[in-house]
Amino acid sequence: MRPTFLTLACLGSLSAAAAMPALAAPEWTQPIKPFRIYGNTYYVGSRGLSAVLVTSPQGHVLVDATMPENASMVEANIRALGFRPSDVKAILNSHAHVDHAGAIAQVAHDTGATVYASALGAKSLALGGQDPDDPQYHPGKGYSQVLATVVGDGEHLKVGSVDIQARATPGHTPGSTSWTWRSCQDGKCVDIVYADSLTAITNGTYRYTDAPAHPHRVEDFRKSIATVAGLPCDILVTTHPDASDVLERAASGKLEDPGACKALAARAVKGLDEELAKEAAATR
Ligand SMILES: [Zn+2]
Repeated sequence: MRPTFLTLACLGSLSAAAAMPALAAPEWTQPIKPFRIYGNTYYVGSRGLSAVLVTSPQGHVLVDATMPENASMVEANIRALGFRPSDVKAILNSHAHVDHAGAIAQVAHDTGATVYASALGAKSLALGGQDPDDPQYHPGKGYSQVLATVVGDGEHLKVGSVDIQARATPGHTPGSTSWTWRSCQDGKCVDIVYADSLTAITNGTYRYTDAPAHPHRVEDFRKSIATVAGLPCDILVTTHPDASDVLERAASGKLEDPGACKALAARAVKGLDEELAKEAAATR
């Protein structure tokens, strides 16, 4: 079944490895046992990078696919949970950095799924992540290029009973997108937020304050952080699980935390303010 649209209208790790996507942290490719997050929502990523499967009898949606070398790991995780990769009909992307999008080309090829991203995300995916508009742009070889279908802010992607809404949250990259949906279990439904990275990380030369190509970058970033803070949010999953202790919360059975999105947003404001202060100091 082909996904249909109804048009209704990284907080990333702060480690040095996250600041330089070319330098992968070991946990990014470290396997862990996949697990149920809630209802029809499952974690199928690695120890250091999230990938989430949302299932329905008519087909599944995969959100992010992590590093290029993790494609078979993600597919094995889907199988280990009792699902078929060939039933994945849609792959959504948070942002087009290698640690979240690197495996999308391979997984899309293997599953036959359609890839969806924001307009600026699709532009970066088509460049294999080699996008000069990226605050972390480092010229290099990039990853396998991906052709994505564009999803607008507020649009809903439907696959069977799965209904996922795109929320534009530009800042970490211009095309950054968070995704939200509801999952039900034992008669109780919760709001799940897959929040894109909200970290203001640069390649050392890019400046959020006065990037000529992005006059509204800081304003947009603050709006994105406010968007995440205001989302209905019973369960938060971040692109980097350690940005909100996803694995620790799951292990202790405390994934539900209605304050998690607001707490993430508060940390993001602090990080952005620190980056802007650094940029201001550099011009004095
Ligand atoms: Zn990133």
